[in-house]
Amino acid sequence: MHDLIESLRQENPDKRLSTLKKILQDKKIRVSHQRLLILDYLITHPIHPTAEKIFKDLKSKDPVISQATVYNSLNLFVNHKLVKELDFNMVSKRYEFKRPSHGHFICESCGKIKDLEILDMQKPDILKDYTIDTIEVIYRGLCPDCKE
Ligand SMILES: [Zn+2]
Ligand SMILES: [Zn+2]
Repeated sequence: MHDLIESLRQENPDKRLSTLKKILQDKKIRVSHQRLLILDYLITHPIHPTAEKIFKDLKSKDPVISQATVYNSLNLFVNHKLVKELDFNMVSKRYEFKRPSHGHFICESCGKIKDLEILDMQKPDILKDYTIDTIEVIYRGLCPDCKE
């Protein structure tokens, strides 16, 4: 999957922050240090974290960040389609930086979530007169670590 997130992840941190700043400005979202931190976290941690996990991990880098800031920023990003909110019927919602359509594998044992590219997400004939916004593909099972 060659998309924005891949190229951003390979950039050096300063360059990445300036690109993220520009992305926020283009969307007319006020830039703040904490908003940048949250976006940067999502890009460098493609693990579909919960809001709680983001907060916990960022708190060690920026002790003044609050849980409300994390929640509010995530909602703002979701509304501007920068971030996708994923509901996998787990205890908490998951978040990821928006990327092209892809499926997910979820390990039923450890909860690890992996992106997978689905090449053939075609609309079935029976839906030809319908407008489809999203297709969700979720595989559930055991990851190699948990299978052992
Ligand atoms: Zn597992
Ligand atoms: Zn994903």
